[in-house]
Amino acid sequence: MVCGSSEDLWICLVCGNVGCGRYTSEHAQQHYLETHHNYAMALSDNRVWDYAGDYFVHRLFQNKEDGKLIEKGGSDENEAKIEGIQLECMHLLTSQLESQRKYWEEMVDQAQAQGAKKYEDVCSELEQAMSQLQVTNKKVEELGSERQSLSHRNLQLSNKFTQTLRDLSNERELNKSLIKNQEMWRKKVVDVEEVASKQQVEITELKEQLRDVMFYIEASQAIKKEDGQVQDDIRDGTVVVGPSTSSDSNRRRKKQR
Ligand SMILES: [Zn+2]
Ligand SMILES: [Zn+2]
Repeated sequence: MVCGSSEDLWICLVCGNVGCGRYTSEHAQQHYLETHHNYAMALSDNRVWDYAGDYFVHRLFQNKEDGKLIEKGGSDENEAKIEGIQLECMHLLTSQLESQRKYWEEMVDQAQAQGAKKYEDVCSELEQAMSQLQVTNKKVEELGSERQSLSHRNLQLSNKFTQTLRDLSNERELNKSLIKNQEMWRKKVVDVEEVASKQQVEITELKEQLRDVMFYIEASQAIKKEDGQVQDDIRDGTVVVGPSTSSDSNRRRKKQR
């Protein structure tokens, strides 16, 4: 007994559940709404309530002594009537049980239909998930191959980089040696220039010396010539006193030089 109430109690004629009446907390009616158990009997006066018809099955009540349901107001004299009532009661319970059977069959059908639908839903969800998984797997595969090619390229690039670094260091070495060579050659050029300028000076000196020598030779030839002329003049007796144009001009030229 869920109810907890001790007054105005009704017992379900189908399953024996006890609940309070509509003037308390309506637990008996609630039981009917939940189960569709149609008939409940008041514990106070044994009257039976029909929930679907919403009325008392007014002729039925339970005999206090033997618990059989009999018609209210009926007498012991009328056995046939009592049997009729019992039949009616049986009929009521049978119809109630029949409606219960239908109700539960419906429930089972609904549950089966729901179950089938759920199964279908789950199947389609599973299918979707599988296809998504396939897509994901494919993507993972693609990404893996992409990663592989990228790492391959990375390796190539790093190799190239290393090669370039090596080339660069070689170039630097070459450059250093070239700079060294350049400095050496520059020094050599300076040396050569010094030598050349020294030689130039020497050449100039030599030229001057040569000129002096040439002067000397010219002068001595001129003197010899003049001496010859004088001797000839003396021999011929034609000594002329006065400036000799040729010798004078010769001497002047000597001085100018
Ligand atoms: Zn109650
Ligand atoms: Zn019940």
